[in-house]
Amino acid sequence: MNKVICIDGPSGSGKSTTAHAVSERLGVLFVDSGALYRIMTWQCLLAGVDTSDPAAVAAFCRGVKVAFVVKGNRVAYEVGGEEPGDRIRTPEINAHVSPVSAVPEVRAIVTGWLRKMPELGDIVVEGRDIGSIVYPDSKYRFYLDCDPDERARRRQKEDAGKGFVQTEAQVKASLLARDKIDSSRKTAPLKIPEGAIVIDTTRLSVDGVVDAIASHLG
Ligand code: C5P
Repeated sequence: MNKVICIDGPSGSGKSTTAHAVSERLGVLFVDSGALYRIMTWQCLLAGVDTSDPAAVAAFCRGVKVAFVVKGNRVAYEVGGEEPGDRIRTPEINAHVSPVSAVPEVRAIVTGWLRKMPELGDIVVEGRDIGSIVYPDSKYRFYLDCDPDERARRRQKEDAGKGFVQTEAQVKASLLARDKIDSSRKTAPLKIPEGAIVIDTTRLSVDGVVDAIASHLG
């Protein structure tokens, strides 16, 4: 099987930036698992599905179709022939994605998609349950941790760049609310995968985190 590098961690811990940098440095495909849960949430909201009703979410999500297309060094997702872009990164999606991703049927669908990705090449996948559930047998499993204030600072800056104006306190509250649901849900909770290498990114540059990961890849 092709190489699978797993990067898990809470919101704003630097997974996405790190996974992008790893994909560039090592020439592997970048796979964003959170975007798939965001797409499910976006489609639910567009269709008027009540995201607090797990049965309705499960029934609806069975019909969501996503195409996987390699573009440069990433696996892009297309819905109805186009990429969703920042439409899946709004504060509204942030507020609904954790309950949607807690629905076991939704997780089963997304996990199935993710397990097919190595057919496309060597990959680096970032998420919450990649090293624990999706690829527990991968030799390359990392967990990024970071101080919550620093996570809020990074995410607020990133969101502001997308035109979403929020205070750092609002961003921190949203991050912590998602962490709470993500780590307390019954199916595939966010946790440090057994045997994963933990990297605290609070005081590290992106290059520093990538160096730490690369040093374990051999
Ligand atoms: O990483 P990102 O912030 O885009 O993830 C959005 C949400 O998707 C997370 O808060 C979590 O609820 C869910 N998620 C998940 N499992 C993953 C990736 C994301 O449950 N592997």
